[in-house]
Amino acid sequence: MDRNSLQEVISLLQRRYGRNIHTQLAHKNITELFVAVLLSPQCSDPQVNKTTKKLFGKYKTISDYANARMDELKRDLGGINYYKTKAKHLKMAAEKIIREYNGKIPDTLESLMSLQGVGRKVGNVILNEGFGINEGIAIDTHCIRVSGRLHIPGGKRRDPRKIEQWLMKNANREDWGKISNLFIALGRDACKPRKECRRCVLRNVCPSSDAPDKALGQRQ
Ligand code: SF4
Repeated sequence: MDRNSLQEVISLLQRRYGRNIHTQLAHKNITELFVAVLLSPQCSDPQVNKTTKKLFGKYKTISDYANARMDELKRDLGGINYYKTKAKHLKMAAEKIIREYNGKIPDTLESLMSLQGVGRKVGNVILNEGFGINEGIAIDTHCIRVSGRLHIPGGKRRDPRKIEQWLMKNANREDWGKISNLFIALGRDACKPRKECRRCVLRNVCPSSDAPDKALGQRQ
């Protein structure tokens, strides 16, 4: 995979999944986005959305999470994997946002990553989706699988940091947030753990494709 092939991949994926692609995590404001993304690791988006539908009716502000009783918050996150740890992180992060950031969700990767439960991936999603800021690229499990099959450096070794660095070097900065969402869409659609190349939009450009159109053949 080189810079030009990556551009081709992005434009094919945009044609298939849309130019204006965003997270599937339901939210109406930055606080809801922050909470939904914090709850999302090791959990499917529909699972998160099901829980946050009720949660957001009860907890409206960062203070509501900071002031929540831990046993009650744990109960309210019951449908989420690792809900006990996530409840603890959410409350501690909310307390720190009030203490150190005037109650506002911070808008730099460094500040976000200083909050409990916020790693690089979570921080990048919040920045990109919530603030339209591209400081990095969120690499989740779908992005890792797709990157491996596209022969993006770091993909085969399942190294998210290396994949992110290569993508940051080779993609236009304004596309960083989009790439993550496009790879996730592809990973949920055709490039699942059990790949379905025959109906994949990248089948004629992907080095791991087992279904290139005969007339075109594979590029690599
Ligand atoms: S062609 Fe196959 S291996 Fe390549 S991205 Fe598509 S589904 Fe994945």
